Parts: sequence; C-alpha cells; structure tokens
Amino acid sequence: FRHGEASEVVVNTPDGAVLFGEQHPLVVVAGPCSVENEEMIVETAQRVKAAGAKFLRGGAYKPRTSPYAFQGHGESALDLLAKAREVSGLGVITEVMDAAELDKIAEIADVIQVGARNMQNFSLLKKVGAQPKPVLLKRGMSSTIEEWLMAAEYILAAGNPNVILCERGIRTFDRQYTRNTLDLSVVPVLRKLTHLPIMIDPSHGVGWAEFVPAMAMAAIAAGTDSLMIEVHPNPKKALSDGPQSLTPERFDRLMQELAVVGKAV
Ligand code: PEP
Ligand code: MN
Repeated sequence: FRHGEASEVVVNTPDGAVLFGEQHPLVVVAGPCSVENEEMIVETAQRVKAAGAKFLRGGAYKPRTSPYAFQGHGESALDLLAKAREVSGLGVITEVMDAAELDKIAEIADVIQVGARNMQNFSLLKKVGAQPKPVLLKRGMSSTIEEWLMAAEYILAAGNPNVILCERGIRTFDRQYTRNTLDLSVVPVLRKLTHLPIMIDPSHGVGWAEFVPAMAMAAIAAGTDSLMIEVHPNPKKALSDGPQSLTPERFDRLMQELAVVGKAV
C-alpha cells in the first residue's frame, strides 16, 4: 500500500516544466494515433496547443494487430515529432516498442510511452527504467491492477522514479459497441495503492469518438490527474484509429467542457 504523499512527475517541455500529480492541475495529452506527415502533425500540434493541451502524442512505431496494417513511419516520424515540438512548444509523448530504438526515441521524446501490449515486456521495462526520461506505462488490456503496479515497479526498481500510469481500457465481453471497457474504478483504487500520477485514455478505452467526451468528463469526476485524447485533423482519412479520433474542433469544445467539471485545465 501507498505510504506518504502523492508523488509528482515533472516533465521539461520547450514551454517549461509540466507537473503531473494529485496536487497539480489536469494535464491533457492530445494528438493523432500515428504521425502521418509533417503537415498533419504540425497542424494538430498547433491546434491542440491552442485548445490547452500540454503534450502532443503521436506514434512513430505502431503496435498493429495485423502485420499488413500501417506500422508507423519510424525514424522519419521522430524527426517530424521533433519539428512539431519545436514549432508548438508542446512536450512530445511517443511509444517505444523495441529497446533497440529507445535511444533515438529518448532523444526527441519528453515522455516515453510503453504501450498496453508491452506492459509485461520486462526487459523493455528494465531498459526504460535505466534511462532518465519519464515513462508513461499503459495498462495491459488483460492485466490486473497488481500486474500493472508490478510492471511499474520494474521501472522504479531500475532507477527511474518518473512513471505515470495510464488506463486505456481492458478486455471484457462487449466488442460490438465499445472497443474496450474503460476501467475508471482504477482512479480511486490507484490513489489508495500508489503515489504515482494517473492518466486516463478514453479514446482507446471506448474506441468511438462520439463516446470519448463523456468518458473524459467521467475520468475527471473520478479524480484523474491527466487525460490522453486522440485528435486527428481528418479522422476519416487517418491511417490508424480514425474512428476514435476527435476533430480539432471537437477537442477544443471538449477542453471547454472539461474546465467546467473539475480540476482546472
Ligand atoms: C496508442 O496509444 O496509440 C496505443 C497503441 O495505445 P495502447 O498501447 O493503449 O493500445
Ligand atoms: Mn491509437
């Protein structure tokens, strides 16, 4: 069980330090599933920044169910993220899938994401734990809270105290109307069990853009410290996760709605 105060994770971004934790304002991370080209990532960065986001998300290396689906543009997408970071002033969060790519990802990313499918990739956890950039650890889609917290312990035990826990939906039995089941009960449970900051990702949690705003608001009501929202300038044309991506206009409106619910954005 948790001992003592909630810890904060401080992330240095071009615009200055951003603080994640119970005692700090809500931090919103937004952006497309995948970095597709320079124009779309720079435009998305500018628009989510104008709406109040503090971080740009976007995958360069994508964990796709099918090997024939778009796998991400890899290294060239990292360059585009660096460009969007510079132009917007936002921090960047992107996923590492393979330890061989960790160094070059850490060069441009302000926070390194370990995705749901790698939550128990223990050798990868040890490696992200042995480098200094903060780590966003997503919950495995079939993982218990205990397994998730133990995965976080691998990072902490390797020497990196800056871990943010991100719930992104778990597998239950309905796949017709929701992609996953967003387990918002983790917010009060994690608050009791751990000092680490909490993030909720309603986009992967529900899988459909029209359901994302309600669950984002619910996550704030439950007490989350941060949110991750997928946003794409043209969701219908997205190379991955278009159906769950908000347009920049809808995201802007959501940010105004969130400010009314609770913790100031
Ligand atoms: C993502 O953030 O785009 C992603 C692939 O997430 P998850 O690992 O939660 O499926
Ligand atoms: Mn995605």
